[in-house]
Formats: sequence, structure tokens, C-alpha cells
Amino acid sequence: MSRDPLNLAIVGLGNVGTGVAKILTQQPERMIQRAGRPIHVAKAVVRTLSKPRDIALPAGVLTDDLQSVIRDPNIHVACELVGGIHPAKEIVLDLLAAGKDVVTANKALLCQHGEEIFNFARKQGRTVCFEAAVAGGIPIIAAVGQSMAANQILAIQAILNGTSNFILSEMLLKHQTYAAALQQAQALGYAEADPALDVNGTDAAQKLGILAQLSFGTKVNTSQIHVSGIDTLQQTDIQYAAGLGYTIKLLASARVNGDKLELSVRPTLIHNDKPLAQIHGPFNAILLDGDVVGNVWYSGRGAGQLPTASAVTADIIDMAIGRAQLTFRQLDLWCDTPRFTLAPEAETRSRYYLRLSVEDRPHVMADVTDRLGRHGISLATVIQPEAPETEGGTQTQVVPLIIMTHRTSRGSLLAAEAELSQLASVRQPLMVLAVAD
Ligand code: NAP
Repeated sequence: MSRDPLNLAIVGLGNVGTGVAKILTQQPERMIQRAGRPIHVAKAVVRTLSKPRDIALPAGVLTDDLQSVIRDPNIHVACELVGGIHPAKEIVLDLLAAGKDVVTANKALLCQHGEEIFNFARKQGRTVCFEAAVAGGIPIIAAVGQSMAANQILAIQAILNGTSNFILSEMLLKHQTYAAALQQAQALGYAEADPALDVNGTDAAQKLGILAQLSFGTKVNTSQIHVSGIDTLQQTDIQYAAGLGYTIKLLASARVNGDKLELSVRPTLIHNDKPLAQIHGPFNAILLDGDVVGNVWYSGRGAGQLPTASAVTADIIDMAIGRAQLTFRQLDLWCDTPRFTLAPEAETRSRYYLRLSVEDRPHVMADVTDRLGRHGISLATVIQPEAPETEGGTQTQVVPLIIMTHRTSRGSLLAAEAELSQLASVRQPLMVLAVAD
């Protein structure tokens, strides 16, 4: 077994990069034991040298000069932990061109430019690892790419954004409003100052895109996924769902249907007897359905300094052993042989939860069920909470009407929704949420 150290560069010494540097410098013996050779942090590249750091590195290691890594033939592996698209993309391509294998945690970059980066790496005979790009500390890339290799994955149901899951948990368990729960997430460091990408579903869609690519060989970018976020949810929907025995989660879902692949990220009612409904706080969870093994579960911390660094370090160890280089060649990633094509959104099928605000007067229920029935949508449950009796008032009361449908196509649902919106007795906006199988 080679005892030569693996010389590593960490490009980006922020939250995750610092975590990786801490693990490698604080656990050198563990690294030798796991990798069969020392892992030596040769360089750590940052943007602003004068910034205070949470880790002390030997003199000469910290630098703001990426070229000192590019030019050093003794640096074998580099981690891109800068984040974002530019200059992260150029950094990764330059590192590969210079003959380095690359570890990245950058889901945004892989989702948007994975094909180009992987093709370039293959051309250069280099390897790219990205365990931390999806679900942080949960080893889901290894699970899908290696441990489930005997299977065709048939479905993925996942909570992939811890910020949204924390907010939804606070709304359910502490009856907080969306705004108060978001503020709490920010105070505890679970949400960025600008939480848009977390709460509008984009972050989960980028991760689902990578998982779908790995599981189904289908090229996906986020604009092809039906995405909606939790930012329009109201406390009232959380509680109506709870009354019906469901918990609302931001669910990332992929499902094979014949030769089609259905993909979505959206707030979804999950029945409380399903394990995903019980995942509360800033955690992630993933259910994989394999055609050989059946259902397999993974859950844990999907973000944060050390959980994410745990996944990055595992990739570095795999590189040091030489295992990652073998696996990478076999990965069915960004290749030209997709096994499934994306299903048009209108053809995807689901059950739905509808909350309407309707006038409390005769024939309204009949009008609503008629509009749904015209599109072949049949009802599983209808609840109209009782309104207080009023005598001789002139103002018509508006009351909520909660409907759970049987399975229907998204196209039928959207057509019915458009007709319901035209009814004078129905107030805007309607709330429509998917219900998981
Ligand atoms: P971060 O705290 O913002 O750190 C970014 C680092 O990159 C900083 O050290 C910054 O330098 C450096 N940097 C920025 N531009 C640079 C440039 N042009 N050249 C060299 N260095 C540059 O980010 P992070 O939270 O650690 O995230 C890193 C990656 O991990 C992202 O792709 C993110 O999506 C992914 N990830 C993060 C988490 C998490 O929990 N944070 C979880 C999963 C995945 P300065 O320090 O000098 O500003």
C-alpha cells in the first residue's frame, strides 16, 4: 500500500472548507487508517486573505492565488468549495485541465453545467466526486451510484431542503406563521439572510436533478422540473392537513411511469403513518424504491459545516484510495443514453388537496363539485367547517371548503382550477397542494 501522502488543495475556506480542513488536520491518524496514506492539506485558497479564519493552518498554506495550486504538479486533488456558478465553473475546469481530480459540494454548478464538467473530466482522464452536493452528510450519492447498483430505481421521495423542513415543522408543532418560522430559522442559522432558493424549491430541485441524472440517466435542468415552494403556505393549510391525518412537507419526487419520468418539487401532504411525515426540524430524508431491494431509507443532517464536510472528506478518502477513480468511469452520469424521457407536467398524476374560500349560500357546493366532475375529478373527502348562524344580515359570509380528490392528471386539475376561479361564489386565491401516494 502506498504511503505517499495525498496532497490536497481546498479552494474555498468558508463554512464547509473550514470543516474539511478541521477534520483532516485534527484526525490525521484516522485519515491514514482509512485512506492507507496521509492526507496533507497543501493549499487553502480564499478570496480575502485578511479575513479572520476559524482554523490555524501552517505558514504558506493559506493563499489567494489559485495559480499556485494549478501550477503545482504535486497537488493531486482539489476541493471546489467556493459555491455558485461563476467563478466556480472556471475554477473546476482549470483544475481538471491541470490534471487534478476534483471534489465538489456544488449542486447549483452540477445541476446547470454537470454535463460539460463531466465530459471534460472524462476527456482529461480525471475524476469528479460530489457526495456532499445532495443531502449534505447523508451518503445518498454512494447509495444510488454504488450500493443500489443491482437495481433500477423506480421512485424517489425526499426531503432535500432542511431550511424548509425546519420552517414547516415550526408551523406545525408550534403553530407559528410562515414569517415567524422563517425568522426563527434565520436566528438559528438554518436559513440564509436571503432564503429565496431554499423556500421557493430551487435548492431541492437542483438536488433532485442530480439524483434523477444518477438514478435514471436522464438529463434534467431545474426549469424542466415542476417546482413550487413553501413560501405561499398558510398556517391554516398546515392545520387542516393535520386534521385530515397528513403533514405538509416540501417533497422532491421522481417516479418512473412506463418509459416516462415524472419529477416535481412541491409542498405535499404526506400521510402521518409514512416515515417522511415524521422527519421534523432541519433534517433531510430520502426514500428510494429499487426494483430488486424495494424501499430503502436514508435520513440525517442535510447541511451544516461538519455533516457536509463529512461527505466531502469521504470523497477525498475515496480519491486517496483510488476507488473514486474506478467508480467514476462506470457512473451513468451525463451520458447520451437516457433510459427515460421527462413526462409533460399535464400528464403527471396525483391526488390533490384543495382549499377554497366560498360564499356560504345555496348551490355553491354543487357548482364546485360540478366543475371538478366535468374534468373527471372525483372527490375523496369534502369538509366545510360550520359557519356561525347569522340572522337577517346583508353580507354573505365566506367560509373555507376543503376537498381531497382521488388521483387525477395535473392537466385536468389545472383546467378545473381555471373554471373554479371563474365562479362568482369562489374567492381568490385557491390553494392546491399535491397529496403523496
Ligand atoms: P461559504 O461559506 O460562502 O464559503 C465560500 C468560500 O469560497 C470562502 O472561503 C470564500 O473566500 C471562497 N471564495 C469565494 N470566491 C472565491 C474565489 N474567486 N477564489 C477562491 N476562493 C473564493 O460557502 P459554504 O457554505 O462553505 O459552501 C461551499 C459549497 O458547499 C457551496 O457549493 C454550497 O452549495 C455547498 N454546500 C454547503 C452546505 C452548507 O451547509 N453550507 C451544505 C451542502 C453543500 P473568503 O472566505 O475569503 O470570502
